[in-house]
Amino acid sequence: MQAGDVDLLVIGAGMAGLTAGARAVRKGLSVTIVEVGADVGGSARFAGYVWTAPDHDVMDRHNPRGDVALKRALVDRFDDGIAWIRSLGVEAKDAQPILSFGRGHQFDTTTMSTPAVG
Ligand SMILES: Cc1cc2nc3c(=O)[nH]c(=O)nc-3n(C[C@H](O)[C@H](O)[C@H](O)COP(=O)(O)OP(=O)(O)OC[C@H]3O[C@@H](n4cnc5c(N)ncnc54)[C@H](O)[C@@H]3O)c2cc1C
Repeated sequence: MQAGDVDLLVIGAGMAGLTAGARAVRKGLSVTIVEVGADVGGSARFAGYVWTAPDHDVMDRHNPRGDVALKRALVDRFDDGIAWIRSLGVEAKDAQPILSFGRGHQFDTTTMSTPAVG
């Protein structure tokens, strides 16, 4: 492969890399994801929930030093994220309480990590 062969080269097929790749493909870009491990999915293969704090006050109380823009995006765009996960054909169950302060959805991270998704 040479520089310029793809629009986006992602190093690491964990959830961050796979999500970036899938979103780029949906926008019409060509993407190559390079994974050093034997499997894709990274830590997410052991995870089970996508979740957030329900509002900014609760988010700030529990993540006082978190990146403000990312915290706002997670709370404000969480429902859009769930809709996007479901649009990939990945099951995300109904919302439920998470830990003492959050809300989230159990979802199938194995299906989410398969190359066919996107
Ligand atoms: C047991 C467990 C349960 C969890 N439960 C949840 C949960 O319910 N909800 C939640 O939101 N989060 C949960 N987490 C955290 C969540 O899984 C991680 O924050 C998230 O998966 C991290 O994704 P990532 O893509 O940033 O990194 P990673 O998953 O670490 O992926 C990085 C990938 O890059 C690859 N890589 C590294 N270096 C190179 C290289 N030089 N070249 C090519 N590839 C490379 C690695 O092999 C790996 O596949 C859990 C974590 C664990 C361990």
